[in-house]
Amino acid sequence: MSQDDGRRLKALFEMATDGIITMNARGVMENVNRAACELFGYTADELRGQKVNMLMSFHDRTHHDEYLERYQRTRVPHIIGIGREVTGRCKDGREFPLRLAVSEAKLAEGTIYTGILHDLSEFHLAKKRVDDLNKSLESKVIERTAALRAREAELQRALGKERELNELKSRFLSLASHEFKTPLSTVLSSAELIELYTDGEQQPKRQRHLDRIKDAVGQLTEVLNDFLSLSQLEQGEIKPVLRKVRLQNVVSAAIEASEGQLQPGQEILVDLSGARPWIVTDAKLLRRILINLLSNAAKYSPAASPIHVRGSHEGGVIKLEVQDHGIGIPQEDRVHLFDRFYRARNAENIKGTGLGLNIVAQYVELLDGSVSFTSREGEGTTFTIALPSAEKA
Ligand code: ATP
Ligand code: MG
Repeated sequence: MSQDDGRRLKALFEMATDGIITMNARGVMENVNRAACELFGYTADELRGQKVNMLMSFHDRTHHDEYLERYQRTRVPHIIGIGREVTGRCKDGREFPLRLAVSEAKLAEGTIYTGILHDLSEFHLAKKRVDDLNKSLESKVIERTAALRAREAELQRALGKERELNELKSRFLSLASHEFKTPLSTVLSSAELIELYTDGEQQPKRQRHLDRIKDAVGQLTEVLNDFLSLSQLEQGEIKPVLRKVRLQNVVSAAIEASEGQLQPGQEILVDLSGARPWIVTDAKLLRRILINLLSNAAKYSPAASPIHVRGSHEGGVIKLEVQDHGIGIPQEDRVHLFDRFYRARNAENIKGTGLGLNIVAQYVELLDGSVSFTSREGEGTTFTIALPSAEKA
């Protein structure tokens, strides 16, 4: 090798962008280039003649002599000729990742090892940025997927509700048109008969038919009210308006509205003496609840039988009972009684749509109360509603 070649090689060694360190078989550094000095923050003088393990992280530093000795004994390389990622340690104690490739050269004066060191700090930073980005993308995807799922579930629910409402409407329409036929034919026939009663003394007959017309219109109104209540309930449009009201007034209003539905000789007997006179509730809803229960009591019990309305009060709860001495409810029908359109088998010959109790149950729930009943077939039925008597604190 000419002198020129030697200088060229030295320059190459010195100016290489990767760190280059040579050491002897005992791990003592002989040559270090500029890049290696910069990597570790030492001057070349500080490194030459020192053991290379001063540039290693604690673990490798304490085991390096062992590694070297094992390799020289077994010739099984772990780094030599392979290269791997290790942790370097700077003069100021900072540690950093680097890729180390070591080659071995046997020279006349002994074996030397050459290590080429490539700083991986930048690479690690970039990798971490990519990893972070991936993670945040992943969590965004998860987030968005969850949001989409929730939205889909919401839409499904809305769709289901819409379908149910549609079904309810069409079912109700067919039922209502059926329900309308009888009262409408009553109205028609009574009107025709009134037309025939032209004499002055036929006034009582006219009156009878006028009453029948009023009854029939009352029935039609009931069916329509049911329909309106249900669709309002379905759409969540009914919000109770709580006010302090006189229980007696609500009960009286309900009885007055139900009078047209009483059968001949039926009488409603009221005893509210066990209850407090005032209740905080929605009077309109409570009245509709009572009208429904009274209408059932009247419909499903014989003429001339009494209907009892009783009130009692216990521990912040007002109980109202509507008792009849009617046909009762067969055991097997009881579980379904509050279902929409459900009618007991012994009620088949009595007019009804099977909506009243469903509405009652929903209204009672809106008022934070509960409804229950006891019944004996052929003897009678008692419906009880329990309502909070005062506003919740
Ligand atoms: P409507 O929608 O006009 O009220 P309905 O009276 O048939 O029709 P609900 O009030 O919901 O419907 O009552 C459901 C069923 O429960 C009735 O068809 C009847 O079989 C039974 N039922 C309700 N109240 C009584 C009662 N007091 N005695 C006996 N059976 C009753
Ligand atoms: Mg009813």
